[in-house]
Amino acid sequence: MKGTKDMLDRYGRSIEYMRISITDRCNLRCIYCMPEGVDLVSMKDILTYEEICEICSAAAALGIRKLKITGGEPLARLGCADLIRSLKAIPGIEQVTMTTNGVLLGKCLSSLLDAGLDAVNVSLDTLNRERFSAITGRDELLSVLDSVERVLDSKLRLKINVVLQRGINDGEWYELASLARDRQMDVRFIELMPIGFGQKREGVANTELKERFRALHPDLQEDSSVHGNGPAVYLRIPGWTGSIGFISAMHGKFCGSCNRIRLTSQGRLKPCLCYGETANLMPILRGGPGGKPSEAMLRQAIEQAVYAKPEQHCFEEPDMITETGRMISIGG
Ligand code: SAM
Ligand code: SF4
Repeated sequence: MKGTKDMLDRYGRSIEYMRISITDRCNLRCIYCMPEGVDLVSMKDILTYEEICEICSAAAALGIRKLKITGGEPLARLGCADLIRSLKAIPGIEQVTMTTNGVLLGKCLSSLLDAGLDAVNVSLDTLNRERFSAITGRDELLSVLDSVERVLDSKLRLKINVVLQRGINDGEWYELASLARDRQMDVRFIELMPIGFGQKREGVANTELKERFRALHPDLQEDSSVHGNGPAVYLRIPGWTGSIGFISAMHGKFCGSCNRIRLTSQGRLKPCLCYGETANLMPILRGGPGGKPSEAMLRQAIEQAVYAKPEQHCFEEPDMITETGRMISIGG
């Protein structure tokens, strides 16, 4: 069912996309996201699947049409496919997609397809097995590559997300991009953001990366076709099957067309990635009479959070960043 309502924020932006961190657990330990030794939130403080569905129903009634399931690692939480099936059944929700590290994706793929998953992003920062272990703390590159092959065979829409870190995997930029040469997938470079453990690492500017691409491919073309719900800018290399995307929070402000809010694993609605302000939905979800949340109160809280959405992020002025949470709770 096509949603009929638009939820506009104060700046006239239509907010139709919600990212949901369904868990702060993960089966990898990426050095810029969830290094070894990170404390976990107690499961009782994490949204249940029923609570996520309550929030999504209220959000869909207001104009949210697209959902992204993320984490932590969404496939590390049991029953993820059942959640997707339930979300797809909510009136007004047109698309449910997922971002995963890919380790369990191959095994879960048939149940995810059966549940109606519309597309998947796989995060993959290196094609080198030793480097993969160094970045993620686990020797799982082969499982991820196997998952990628299975997704390609299934024809599910696939994007690869790459975060480059200087001196660690930035030398692999062209090899990683080349995954899109002959295969039906986009490869996207996400600039490392100074959120959570990302503050301690050094990323690579996408402006620099684009110059490297242009030097090798002077015939590079802008690709203005729609590839998804997000702020990525795409370039096409003539003759390549997939496109190269750039998500440039640090060096390419896209706030004018921002269409999203985020729901953290602990039930906080987050209007903008770089600010700590959130609307806590837990008291509404767990404090109602008989424990039943009021949909009217959820809608009101969502509208207020959208109203509070700032005009733009402040990543270029690090002193103004007020987000102190971790990416595993926020969902990236
Ligand atoms: N575990 C899943 C995965 O890795 O795709 C989903 C959660 S993960 C937090 C979502 C995305 O956020 C991943 O592509 C990851 O590389 C990215 N990410 C994590 N920390 C980041 C940071 N500080 N800056 C930019 N991207 C980050
Ligand atoms: Fe886990 Fe994804 Fe974070 Fe890596 S980026 S630690 S896979 S949540």
